[in-house]
Amino acid sequence: MPRVIFHLDMDAFYASVEQRDDPRLKGKPVIVGASPDRRGVVCAASYEARAFGVRSAMPSRTAQRLCPDGVFIRPRMDAYRNESREIMARLATFGGQVEQVSVDEAYLDMSHRFEEFTREAVTALGREMKEVVRAERRLTASIGIGSNKLLAKIASDHGKPDGLFCITEEEKVAFLRPLPASAIHGVGKVTAEALATMGLRTIGEIQDFGGDLRAVAGSFAPKLKAYAFGNDTRPLDLDGEVKSISAEETFERDTEDRRILVPVLKEQAREIAGKLGKERLAARTVQVKVRYSDFKTLTRQTSVEESFESAETIYAIACAILRRERVVDRPLRLIGLGVSGLVPPSTQMVFEFGRN
Ligand SMILES: [Mg+2]
Repeated sequence: MPRVIFHLDMDAFYASVEQRDDPRLKGKPVIVGASPDRRGVVCAASYEARAFGVRSAMPSRTAQRLCPDGVFIRPRMDAYRNESREIMARLATFGGQVEQVSVDEAYLDMSHRFEEFTREAVTALGREMKEVVRAERRLTASIGIGSNKLLAKIASDHGKPDGLFCITEEEKVAFLRPLPASAIHGVGKVTAEALATMGLRTIGEIQDFGGDLRAVAGSFAPKLKAYAFGNDTRPLDLDGEVKSISAEETFERDTEDRRILVPVLKEQAREIAGKLGKERLAARTVQVKVRYSDFKTLTRQTSVEESFESAETIYAIACAILRRERVVDRPLRLIGLGVSGLVPPSTQMVFEFGRN
């Protein structure tokens, strides 16, 4: 039995839900996030808004400058979570194992449906799945198909939006060659830069490289080489545990002084970004935790649709949360920062830039 893995990724999920639920927003540049006069960030942008350069995690004010006619909408996380449950329930009806990666993304093991991996057969099933989502939820999904998770994810990124793309075993090595190294699972900004200093910018250059990759990739080197050839044995992760990375600091003396809080938050953001880099992950949610003198503790979070991995972005989102929630209105005993919604670093931007 061949291994047949699907990767389903909803297109501009939050914004598409808004456009579906309010037909007046169809065709408009929709920006889900803080209103531009409130110093928050963009959580998600419709394709119409992305055409102006609007991206998630950017300050709403910047988004408005780029896209003056953008329609700003407050995020409705409950609506997106409910929609996510509806979609995952539809996917479950196809009978394979499902690994939900995030609110709008899942891997499906469809091996049981096939005697043989042929493009015709697997894309027929992909079309059926897209049709179910379209007919029953009135939303578009992109689906990528391959013999493993790596290929399925690259295929769904490649076909976006409303994509249906398959990478067969015969063509995988040649297909991967021209793609940037950062398209490989686990290659974030730092590793991509290190590879570039060795002249390894494309996956093909990694395929051809005869030297030792450990200098730049450490213990990840053997996997990196295997991934470059489209080989990936990772099983679906079915335990569904919520993973997060966090840091917190209790002050010797309670404080609301920005001159103390700012460097602490920046350091926490750096520490978390470092751990993300080491784990070869990116995040989609930032959480801020504060504890007051009376031990009352609050947590507030924001999720954005495209993953981020840099300390700057983590810090910027944390600041947006603090301003929005006005939680630092009296001295703090503790401040903590965390990220969750952990996913492999996104390759979507790379493809978007590559196409324009
Ligand atoms: Mg998506």
